[in-house]
Amino acid sequence: MSEWQPFDAAKDAQIRTLRNALLAAKIPHYVCEDCWYSCGKTGVDCCNDAARGKCTCGADAHNAKIDEALNV
Ligand SMILES: [Zn+2]
Repeated sequence: MSEWQPFDAAKDAQIRTLRNALLAAKIPHYVCEDCWYSCGKTGVDCCNDAARGKCTCGADAHNAKIDEALNV
C-alpha cells in the first residue's frame, strides 16, 4: 500500500502530457502499395493469404506495450 500524498498539480499535468504522448505513439497496421507487403490485419489491403488475420508489421506488439504502460 502506498503512502498518502497530497495532490501535486504539476505532476498530474506531467502525467497527462506523458499519457497523451503515449497515445500519439500508437501506430496503425502497415499498408503498402504492393498489397503483398501489407500487414495481414489490414484485411482487404493484404493479398497474402498466409498473413491474413495476423499482424505481420509489428503494430500489435508495439501498441500492446503502450497499452501496458497506460494501464499502470
Ligand atoms: Zn500489423
